[in-house]
Amino acid sequence: AKAQGRNTYRFFTDAMSVEAQRHLSLERRLRHALEHERFVLHYQPQVDIASGRIVGCEALLRWNDPEEGLVAPGRFIPFAEESGLIVPIGEWALHSACRQARRWADAGLPPLRVSVNLSARQLWQTELPERIAAILKSTGLPPQALELELTESMIMGHEAQAVERLGQLRSMGLRLAIDDFGTGYSSLSYLKNLPIEVLKIDQSFVRNIPQDRNDMEIAGGIIALARKLNLDVTAEGVETAAQLTFLAEQGCDSYQGYLFSRPLPAEEFEKLLTR
Ligand code: C2E
Ligand code: CA
Ligand code: CA
Ligand code: CA
Repeated sequence: AKAQGRNTYRFFTDAMSVEAQRHLSLERRLRHALEHERFVLHYQPQVDIASGRIVGCEALLRWNDPEEGLVAPGRFIPFAEESGLIVPIGEWALHSACRQARRWADAGLPPLRVSVNLSARQLWQTELPERIAAILKSTGLPPQALELELTESMIMGHEAQAVERLGQLRSMGLRLAIDDFGTGYSSLSYLKNLPIEVLKIDQSFVRNIPQDRNDMEIAGGIIALARKLNLDVTAEGVETAAQLTFLAEQGCDSYQGYLFSRPLPAEEFEKLLTR
């Protein structure tokens, strides 16, 4: 039994060190990627339903790894959040998206808002407002052209601090959106206290329209709520014409999804804009 115990123990430490090594190497690779500008943003259009025009875009991060190619954010963002690397990576994304939006404006393309995802660590970083102010100054992008996407889970349990922090960002002229709305178990009462402009309906409620009656009720309910609170509402993950028709009927303002376009590299997104 003793020998067996020792074997189990050895196996355990070996497994731990494999896991620890994996994390260490991932951390090293992410730091390297940051230093060597190996991240890229893809841009997905946000389309105004009434006019059919592109009114904005969401900047979505990818890691261009020489060995693995383009790595989707789901594969490295959770780790970046855990290790704290999301702060410099997220700041790179903010800067890069603002610079790109400014270039499009300078090229004479129609005015466009750019949305950037913020992580919890960034939201609660003391100097966030100053960092964003510095990015806007250095890129020359007007604050109204920048939208920040936050999730309910980042706010949950910190409602009072959130009112203050979002108030700071709002007073800078930024637009604030609640991403993945409906997935966060949060109370609705906090919504009316937050200085936000936009609710983004999570794609899990859009995916099964029109087969799933419950999802249709939820999506319709979120749209009705947004309208009552005087918020804009964007639907995510719209893939079919039937989904778009339903959302339009319910009074949804804008949408994102493969139906219109996948997220695209900047040059391809630009072609879409000039088309
Ligand atoms: P998200 O913010 O909810 O972004 C929407 C995701 O849905 C994107 O996945 C997008 O490519 C995908 N999508 C868009 N249209 C459709 C559609 O019609 N059908 C389906 N099935 N999917 C669609 P992506 O690019 O893999 O990003 C995943 C998540 O990674 C994002 O979810 C966001 O939470 C996070 N993320 C991306 N970029 C950043 C970033 O710069 N900073 C932080 N903190 N998180 C980021
Ligand atoms: Ca988002
Ligand atoms: Ca989302
Ligand atoms: Ca999501």
